[in-house]
Amino acid sequence: MKNKCKNIDNVKKRSIDTKVVHGNKSFDEKTGAISFPIYQSATFRHPSLTETTGYDYSRLQNPTREEVECIVANLENGKHGFAFSSGMAAVSTVLTLFNSHDHIIVSEDLYGGTYRAFEEIYRKYGITFSYIDTSSLKNTEEAIQENTAAIFVETPSNPMMRITDIRGISHLARNKNVMLIVDNTFLTPYSQRPLELGADVIIHSGTKYLGGHNDTLAGFIVANNDELADKIKLIQKTEGAVLSPFDSWLVIRGIKTLGIRLERQQSNALKIAKWLENHHNVEQVYYIGLESHPGYEINRSQSTGSGAMISFSVKDSSLVDSILKKIKLIIYAESLGGVESLITYPVMQTHAAIPVEIRDKLGVTDKLLRLSVGIENVEDLIEDLKQAME
Ligand SMILES: *Cc1c(COP(=O)(O)O)cnc(C)c1O
Repeated sequence: MKNKCKNIDNVKKRSIDTKVVHGNKSFDEKTGAISFPIYQSATFRHPSLTETTGYDYSRLQNPTREEVECIVANLENGKHGFAFSSGMAAVSTVLTLFNSHDHIIVSEDLYGGTYRAFEEIYRKYGITFSYIDTSSLKNTEEAIQENTAAIFVETPSNPMMRITDIRGISHLARNKNVMLIVDNTFLTPYSQRPLELGADVIIHSGTKYLGGHNDTLAGFIVANNDELADKIKLIQKTEGAVLSPFDSWLVIRGIKTLGIRLERQQSNALKIAKWLENHHNVEQVYYIGLESHPGYEINRSQSTGSGAMISFSVKDSSLVDSILKKIKLIIYAESLGGVESLITYPVMQTHAAIPVEIRDKLGVTDKLLRLSVGIENVEDLIEDLKQAME
């Protein structure tokens, strides 16, 4: 597949803070519009029998979608980007690359919807999965079988914030000719670029930090290998779970502030994590920005940030109900990564699809809450938690 992002070499060397703002083309070449146009068209006129404008039909390609695809590819320092109607559509597209009898190693602590897709949909087609603690290289190596085709990693993991050594796993994967897939939703390319560390495929739920405003669903895949990109393109244009022009535009706009949002969210998160650590009703805090967090050093060696996701367990499960009732500013809702702070109860929401034995083993218990820290004033957020946790 030749690179559709014609401008990518010109903008590749820019710093990430500039990349997020100026995107791929930065403005519309025809009119100079600074806000990239929404090409709300299903189909495109051909000038003559043998000519095309480069656009035929929006399931195949659309200029607004192409712009966001090139932006996300560029942020990940990758070659080929693909935008989907949700993160799950992106996960599903990657799984469609595999054949029956293939085996995939998966981080055992992962997004519940991904687990559900693997177990309830793809297992039916003869793909098998091993769920292991990928933060241990030894475990990962031992889990590799004759028919292992891929390793699927979330780092930090969700919701226990375990850190996987991307470089280490990529060495293992390369030696065994296994594809390394990283779901980079939590840290985003602003802080972590797994392709640079040896991964083959990046997945995103663009619904989260990339979009950033809890106003649209989106998903992305980024890859460098041309042959692999051809396969992904075939699935995307054939199955058709593409991102609409308007949603593509929303994500382009969202990404412009990714840098400043994340800086603020991260600084808020660190203050909140430290505050939670000292609260008498808190048993344990899981935040990768805390030096005491296992994997802190590895995360520092492979990313430039700690993100803004905090999980914490309270001393007694009876506190959960009252916290969720009393919380006023922080919103009790699923999802993460937006400007508004949200609190979730993984055991009943994001991770309900995961069997109780696995949840218990991981620590996803009825005492665990997960916080997605937004960009509000941090004192206001702490004040809200304080009154809710008394
Ligand atoms: C939300 C999420 C997904 C799924 O994305 P949707 O946009 O909700 O379909 C996948 N992986 C992670 C880590 C997520 O947080």
